[in-house]
Amino acid sequence: MNALSDLMNRIVSLCKRRGFVFPGSEIYGGFGGFYDYGPLGVELKNNIKLQWWKRMVYEREDVVGLDAAIIMNPKVWEASGHVEAFTDPLAECFACHHRFRSDHLQSDSCPDCGGKLSEARKFNILVETSVGVLEDQKKKAYLRGEITQGVHVNFRNVLDSTPLKIPFGIAQIGKAFRNEITPGNFIFRQREFEQMELQFYVKPEAEEGKKWFEYFKGLRMQWYRDLGIRKENLRFRDHRMDERAHYAQAATDIEYNSPFGWSEFEGIHHRGAWDLGRHGQYSGQDLSYFDNESKERYVPWVIETSGGVDRAFLFFLLDAYSEDGKRVVLRLNPKLAPYKAAVFPLVANKPDIYNTAHEIYHQLKRKLNTVAWDDRGNIGKRYYSQDEIGTPWCVTVDYQTLDDGTVTVRDRDTAVQERVKANELEGYLVQKLS
Ligand code: ATP
Repeated sequence: MNALSDLMNRIVSLCKRRGFVFPGSEIYGGFGGFYDYGPLGVELKNNIKLQWWKRMVYEREDVVGLDAAIIMNPKVWEASGHVEAFTDPLAECFACHHRFRSDHLQSDSCPDCGGKLSEARKFNILVETSVGVLEDQKKKAYLRGEITQGVHVNFRNVLDSTPLKIPFGIAQIGKAFRNEITPGNFIFRQREFEQMELQFYVKPEAEEGKKWFEYFKGLRMQWYRDLGIRKENLRFRDHRMDERAHYAQAATDIEYNSPFGWSEFEGIHHRGAWDLGRHGQYSGQDLSYFDNESKERYVPWVIETSGGVDRAFLFFLLDAYSEDGKRVVLRLNPKLAPYKAAVFPLVANKPDIYNTAHEIYHQLKRKLNTVAWDDRGNIGKRYYSQDEIGTPWCVTVDYQTLDDGTVTVRDRDTAVQERVKANELEGYLVQKLS
């Protein structure tokens, strides 16, 4: 086993052992391509989504949020091209997961990387479901294959209900479902996953499209950097003409240098007028925009940023994982860490120490939401246990606390300990977190 696949195994095992990610329906033997997020996983995932929402919605004046239904009128998927595009006989490469129309292939290896191809099958990557209770009147529908379309079908509603003017964007985070032929690499390729997307509407002019495409490339890359992913593990990969959707004017991926190779985190796509044009055509509704300044009517172009919450989760973990002798440290950005702090009584059998620690724990929890409590074993073990799950600060109440009202605050990354006044602790941690 090489060092990198070993790293992947360690992450998978840490996730199970400490309650980040469990195999889906595990007691029934699992279910391929589905995972459940445990007590720590749900916190990390929520923190990723919150940081995304902050950067993409709260810090801006030109973006609003939306939460569309997972099941939509099936015509949406005809208009978007998914029904048509996903029913061709396709073969998928086991290595790079690119799919090819089998009638376009000359050999049984993959044109992009030389990997082995699966058998060609007629399949539809959309997950089907049916809506209605009467057996003979059930209507076929789909669980959305991407969250994108829920935004575009609401373009007119958002425009009519807000004062926004082009350029503006609509952000959404939510589940998507795909019948992937080869789910794998842990949570990297699942059948149920979560996306975080911005659809940004711009004036249909070449310069305008280019400007916003470049702007969002920079903004999205910076977000991963600001949350601590190492520079050398990130890159852009521009799509070749033959890889791009036929309507895309430009497309690039943000990739992470993972144990299974450079892999897509997020796509930035210049989708032109495809989405609103098609929905306008299929619904018969007018989805054009009247520009009051230039007195022009046009169908806006769309610049999209489409990232995976689960993939970000995996790459943040991989990038943060480090071993220092026997000590495993998850050097997560404190904003992402599942617990912001942990509180320990030095000894559990001294009521004064125990009660003071418990009071501090409750007080911090009210402010920071997630704070761990541990009174088991010795202090060294407790530190190790918190390091492994990325808790940035451990607070210990000891004998000195009873004398001078100070506690020990120990930093995860440096292991340096500082004495801080208990009544200043909350402000001290809040400041560090910001
Ligand atoms: P890939 O080429 O890896 O299949 P894609 O190009 O089909 O990905 P998009 O349709 O652009 O992906 O979806 C946007 C984002 O959604 C991806 O960058 C990824 O982060 C996430 N995503 C897509 N498919 C999956 C999946 N099966 N499991 C987890 N995340 C996914």
